Amino acid sequence: MELDKMYEALGISRGVYGFGETVLESLRPRLEAIDKNAEYNQGKVLLSMQQNRVNATHFAATTGYGYDDEGRDNLERIYAGIFHTEAALVRPQITCGTHALAVALSANLLPGDELLSPVGAPYDTLEEVIGIRESKCSLKEYGVTYAQADLQPDGSFDYDAIRAAINSRTKLITIQRSKGYATRPSFSVAQIGELIAFCKNLKPDVKIMVDNCYGEFVERLEPSDVGADMVVGSLIKNPGGGLAPIGGYICGTRACVERCAYRLSAPGLGQEVGANLGLMPALYQGLFLAPTVVSGALKGAVFAANIYERLGFACVPGAGEERYDIIQAVTLGSPEAMKAFCRGIQAAAPVDSYVTPEPWAMPGYDAEVIMAAGAFVQGSSIELSADGPIRPPYAVYFQGGLTWYHAKLGILMSLQKLVEAGLAVLPE
Ligand SMILES: *Cc1c(COP(=O)(O)O)cnc(C)c1O
Repeated sequence: MELDKMYEALGISRGVYGFGETVLESLRPRLEAIDKNAEYNQGKVLLSMQQNRVNATHFAATTGYGYDDEGRDNLERIYAGIFHTEAALVRPQITCGTHALAVALSANLLPGDELLSPVGAPYDTLEEVIGIRESKCSLKEYGVTYAQADLQPDGSFDYDAIRAAINSRTKLITIQRSKGYATRPSFSVAQIGELIAFCKNLKPDVKIMVDNCYGEFVERLEPSDVGADMVVGSLIKNPGGGLAPIGGYICGTRACVERCAYRLSAPGLGQEVGANLGLMPALYQGLFLAPTVVSGALKGAVFAANIYERLGFACVPGAGEERYDIIQAVTLGSPEAMKAFCRGIQAAAPVDSYVTPEPWAMPGYDAEVIMAAGAFVQGSSIELSADGPIRPPYAVYFQGGLTWYHAKLGILMSLQKLVEAGLAVLPE
């Protein structure tokens, strides 16, 4: 059977398929560059696995306290090798990215200390962790204050504001690599390196934490290669490679990571406890696959931006821009178009493909939110997914795809639904 026939069987019209192929043809050099980065990062992962002599005993399950869990301890050495840090904490007991970030912050900030974000407001869920929005057990409740230097209107660092914000109490600086669901640009590792150098020049003993969510393996360097004391992320995003069913990581200096381990378990226990519950095969193999999985997601993001920009929809990042994370925002301009786009992503999924996503009032948001995802791991956003609040400018945030072919189908299907609804018109 011809490929276009297979796409037809999947619900993609000849017109949409043909348009997709035309767009793809123009993207070959971009896709090749993404492959080269993936090849480099695959080497980085393999090197660390080989140096740490991975063997079948590392995949054994442990229970109870998890003392002498060699599989867990070796996985942490492997992460430290990849991120070029002294230490790493990689645990299924870290339930998500927000949890990892909350552990890293609360372990390394004491009453009277100040936390500074020099890149504007942090990710939504961190507002309650910090106490920007009141919450039980926030850092604010424990006497940690928060300061923020906003970005310049063009998205660049406001060095004067940062200089003014750093004071004798500034203990930790948090830098979010990915824009997340904001409209600012994401930062390259090189930009993050410049910002770290500026801050450390003003205050050499300040600790720098980078929220690395959605950024892992997008570039050849990680923020820990350019001076970050801690890099933090979720295993149901990039580094879990789609196989990790839960988990988070903190890689960094021994001093910082040890405090994180004491905070995660208990003072005195630290990294010694925490059974792996049989999850090691998924965490090892997911990490092994992660560079390839991330490359597929990146290709999907580039493909989507090029498809939708050609049809007149604004995209962030733009079709031709460099990528520093796997998120693609597409401004669709109407609630109907958001729903059609999400219906397409859902219809292309391996799981729950027959479900119709509907907007709902999600806690913590001031508008209804629509989400499309048919994932093997609940909430996994390294798997193909799209979501966004139903409010102007009616933008969807699209990310993930465990394989490039699935990401491609998802994007074509989103376009198919828009075309069928008369909300997008293919060029002649
Ligand atoms: C996803 C994300 C988080 C939070 O991760 P969860 O796993 O959803 O708790 C934090 N920061 C950024 C930039 C993210 O993308």
